[in-house]
Amino acid sequence: MKKKILLITTGGTIASETSEEGLVPGLSSSELLTSVNSIAERYDVTTKDLFQLDSSNIQPEEWQMIAGCIADSYAGFDGIVVTHGTDTMAYTSSILSFMLRNIPVPVVLTGSQLPISHPLTDAKDNLFCAFAMAASGTPGVFLAFNRKVLRGCRAVKVRTKSFDAFESINCPPVAKVDVGGLIINNDLVMTPSGVFELKSALNSDIILIKVIPGLNPGMLEMLRNTDCRGIVIEAFGAGGMHFMRRDLISALQALADSGIIIVVCSQCLYESCDFTIYQTGMRLVEHKGIIQARDMTTEAAVTKLMWCLGQADSADRLRSLFESDLAGEISCGQMA
Ligand code: ASP
Repeated sequence: MKKKILLITTGGTIASETSEEGLVPGLSSSELLTSVNSIAERYDVTTKDLFQLDSSNIQPEEWQMIAGCIADSYAGFDGIVVTHGTDTMAYTSSILSFMLRNIPVPVVLTGSQLPISHPLTDAKDNLFCAFAMAASGTPGVFLAFNRKVLRGCRAVKVRTKSFDAFESINCPPVAKVDVGGLIINNDLVMTPSGVFELKSALNSDIILIKVIPGLNPGMLEMLRNTDCRGIVIEAFGAGGMHFMRRDLISALQALADSGIIIVVCSQCLYESCDFTIYQTGMRLVEHKGIIQARDMTTEAAVTKLMWCLGQADSADRLRSLFESDLAGEISCGQMA
């Protein structure tokens, strides 16, 4: 029997057409499928055109629409494929990993660097890989691209133009396509620990700041008079920021005292932050209001902070939720 797959489309380059203003998403799901006839022959596909957006326009409201659509329909399907623009796909795959608690079927995001109508497109291979993963029975949220399948909350877009646009950070890919077909590493699959729940409440009033040498603490202090509820701050290396002459550490501690949640991570892409190594980091995390993101990607840290702000009713609960590994976004042992 053919596997039943739901294809949800949201726009992106994969579905784009040329216009006078550049590429604009315009193809419907059935138009996408006519370019890959073998998918309709191999799988029992149902389609849902959710919206047609460049993913730069996909924001928390659209994340909630995608999560709601999956929650309403997953029970009738073996797996779900979501086509999406590549630019913010790693944010969407990260937030869906938190919103779709214990999803029992594969949810696989994919897209492409060239539109599906282009003669040299990567869209068809990406769709073949995404459908194979969606039919595999492997539970979780994934991102399929360039013959690899990544855990959704570990994916980062690292290249603007090459087909190898995504990497899985601090965790190997969950699956790869080679002459043996789709080879899944089951050791990397997160088994659901309870019943499925849609938890889509979030608060997006947060900001991501990258520390630069000489960053003026007064610019951080200005956030106190705004709606800002959380800050993710990318520090140097394993974890450091200046306190000499311009005291960022005191500025962050004062913001934490005012009730803003501060999450610190590294501006390095690979490996974990550890603010206990250097004096410049240690001083910061001695403050109980400051949370380390450990080896999470920035995309996972940002979306998890938004999500935790929508889920937790106290600062203590938020901290314990943020520090728990919910979908394989943090390596469980100490610092990777
Ligand atoms: N700007 C496009 C988007 O993210 C890029 C892509 O899909 O590759 O929607």
